Order: sequence, then structure tokens, then C-alpha cells
Amino acid sequence: MTEFIICADFPRNQVEFEKRFGSEQTCRDYLAKIKWPDGFICRNCGHQAYWISAKGLYICTRCESPNSLTAGTVMHGTKKPLTYWFKAMWWFTTRKSGVNAINLKDLLGLGSYQTAWIWLHKLRDCTIRKNRERLSGTVEIDEFVVGGQQPGKRGRGAIGKTIVVAAVEKEGRRLGRIRLQVVPDCSANVLEQIVSTNVEPGSTAITDGWKGYSFLEESSYEHKAMVASHIDNKECVLPGVHLIASLVKRLIVGTFQGRFDPKHLQSYLDEYVFRFNRRKSLNVGKKFMRIAQQVTASAKTTYKEVTAGSSPFTLLAN
Ligand SMILES: [Zn+2]
Repeated sequence: MTEFIICADFPRNQVEFEKRFGSEQTCRDYLAKIKWPDGFICRNCGHQAYWISAKGLYICTRCESPNSLTAGTVMHGTKKPLTYWFKAMWWFTTRKSGVNAINLKDLLGLGSYQTAWIWLHKLRDCTIRKNRERLSGTVEIDEFVVGGQQPGKRGRGAIGKTIVVAAVEKEGRRLGRIRLQVVPDCSANVLEQIVSTNVEPGSTAITDGWKGYSFLEESSYEHKAMVASHIDNKECVLPGVHLIASLVKRLIVGTFQGRFDPKHLQSYLDEYVFRFNRRKSLNVGKKFMRIAQQVTASAKTTYKEVTAGSSPFTLLAN
């Protein structure tokens, strides 16, 4: 489990960011500080003294093994300067709606749209912290579908549509944190896995009483099944998830003009959740720091893995 040291070292605004991260050296120093909060430790022998090579590698003075800040992370093998990655992380986290691949390509002067697209997918992969705290208190849970035009059957999955389960913390009438997960269907098996992964036992789960949620009756959750007299009444019984569903649908229309590749939807939802759950954060720089931390701790992903996207099944297995 990766636990990050609470760190207060982040740029407070754009001016501070530009002033501080204009050179390879200062970017490297920041990544090193995040990677080794208690000072350099050689990954090979544990020695704590080093020198920095011309290529920016931390060379252990005892065993001489090279320690890289980017190898094994999503930046693995990058030929672009760290300053580019820092700018991408800054725009990704501090712009209200993030940055799209066309903008990123133009802002950084990247050679291809594909590179910008891959970078953004890699950053989205870093928005979800492994072993993050589960939602707690009162949590509304429901599914909604996106894409496709044909109405589909709920239990078996709707043809041409992508099903998303939303879990939303309710603090009175206000919304707390959220989770969004693409699922293959709305069976009890799937829903049980989603709830146990995302909601703390002891919480109160509010659903619409769909049979797939009946496992909640004999579980460590308190279950409130709000049965709507008609499906259109969902807005009244589950206002939190209803609102989130409409925001996500608006995002899909705005970002992809309604058309999207289902295998990449989870990645966009992850970014949306990252942004939504930090909407009250007082400082934009904190979000930047969080992504920098998660990039440093990330595992490398290949071009093939990024373009393959994710299926709801592999997500469930994680
Ligand atoms: Zn060493």
C-alpha cells in the first residue's frame, strides 16, 4: 500500500509554478523529494549517498547502480523533458475541465496528437489512488447507462450501452465524495463487488430496491430500499446519483459529442471523479502535487496497454 507523506510543498498558483519548474533540475528535485521523502535510498543496496549523472540518474556511491526517477513509472522511456510532463500535470489538474489532447498537443508543441492522447490517458491512470478510503455514512447507489439509443434490459446489460454504477455520499442534501465504475451488467455478483470495494461496512446504502441489491439485506450495511412508484421518480428517491448521472452524460456530450469508445470510458470517469472529489479543495496546487505523487509511484504502461483501454471485468478484478 502506497501511503504518501503529508507534504505541503506545492506551487500555490501559476506564477509560482512557472517560476519553480522551468528547468529539468528543479523538476527532478521535486520528483526526488516525492520519491524519497526521507532522502535518497538506493533501490539495490539501500545506501543513502549518490551523485547525479549527466542523464539525470541518481548513481549510488556504494554499488554504483543507477536509480531513475522515471523508469518503471508512466513516464518510463520518455524522450521529452520533465518540464513538459510537469506542464501537462499542471494543466491537467488545475484547469477547471482539464485539458484535451488537441490543446495539450498545441500547448506543448508535441509532434503528434497521439502522443498527447497517450500522455493524458497515462495521467488519468494516476488519478485513482490504490487502497483509497471507501465512501461512508449515507451512500446512494444506482446505475445508469450511457451511449446507445435502444432501451435495454437492466439485469442482463443493455446492448450498445455502457452501464455505470454510481455511489454518492450524502451529507444532508449536499453531496460528498463519489465513485463511478463501468460494469458488465447489474447482477447481484457485480453490484456486491462494487459496493464492498467502494463503500465502508456500517454505512447506510440507499438504493431503488432493484433485486440485484438484495444482498444488502443481510450484510454489514444498513439498506434503505426506496421504491419509486415509477422509474421516472428516481430523481426524487435518489437525487444524488441522479445529479451525478446527468453531469456525466453532459460531460460525454461535451467531450465526445455523445460518441465514445466504451473501453476508454472508465479512464474518463476516473478523471471526473478525481476532479469532483477535490472540487472544494482550496488550492489548485494540491491537486498538482497529488498527481505528481501518483505519477512517481505509478507503474509503467505500454502504448499497447493504453490503447487497449479497460474492460469492466479487468477493472473488477483489480
Ligand atoms: Zn547502491
